[in-house]
Amino acid sequence: MQKMDLLYEGKAKKVFTTDQPEVLCVVYKDDATAFNGQKKGTISGKGIINNQMSNRLMQYLEKEGIPTHFIEEVNERETFVKKVQIIPLEVIVRNIAAGSFSQRYGVPEGTVFAEPTVEFSYKNDALGDPLLNTYHAIALELATKEELFQIKNLAFSINKKLKEFWSKCGIILVDFKLEFGRCTDGSIVLADEISPDTCRLWDAETKEKLDKDRFRRDLGGVEDAYTEVMQRLEKHINM
Ligand code: ADP
Ligand code: UDP
Repeated sequence: MQKMDLLYEGKAKKVFTTDQPEVLCVVYKDDATAFNGQKKGTISGKGIINNQMSNRLMQYLEKEGIPTHFIEEVNERETFVKKVQIIPLEVIVRNIAAGSFSQRYGVPEGTVFAEPTVEFSYKNDALGDPLLNTYHAIALELATKEELFQIKNLAFSINKKLKEFWSKCGIILVDFKLEFGRCTDGSIVLADEISPDTCRLWDAETKEKLDKDRFRRDLGGVEDAYTEVMQRLEKHINM
């Protein structure tokens, strides 16, 4: 397979067509943004870590029966994925209160939920990714009722498997964002990425933040945190 033309440049990745109509090539950048693009920066080596981490986690999830867009890692920053029609929803699963949840509902960060939660945001930068419910998603024709049911079940199932895995690494999975896509046959697969850019990951003992919050909140040690998470993943991924 061969990378061809730039189709889209996002905040963290570039997406290229390939010589195969059903395959795209994703290239991970070191660029970092937060607060809907208002804060910009670079996290050196992030593209390499996020590409490799996302691929390892998607391969792990595939083995556990979750369909994903992953096809093949090309090199340290580039991956071939199934071309899908992205469902414009950010699917956020939470195990512990943090970030916008803590702010919105006035709950201290670190409050552990009895049950995980799921919520949807409309993936629309111009509108600032507003929160919406399943009725709104159906009204806006972003997804069907059946697709939303499937996405919700996949999201909780992915949470269970990722929580278990990160726990082996001494890491608490606080919350994360997923994107799903429709394949040409209409089936739903997990797309985009799973990385410290899209997950909150805390050290199980010290509760130290090992994710993009270090960049968002100017905590320092951003590169070291991403590297630490990757090292722990590599140690435990095949065990
Ligand atoms: P953003 O668009 O939020 O700035 P990125 O920089 O991560 O995000 O850009 C990657 C883009 O590629 C996202 O819009 C994402 O929805 C899209 N994407 C991810 N996986 C696939 C896929 N398998 N097929 C088509 N598009 C995808
Ligand atoms: N998230 C993401 N992209 C977004 C919004 C959120 O990857 O555009 C992730 C974020 O890293 C966190 C989870 O989704 O792991 C929940 O984020 P939250 O709603 O608390 O928003 P934030 O505090 O990041 O604004």
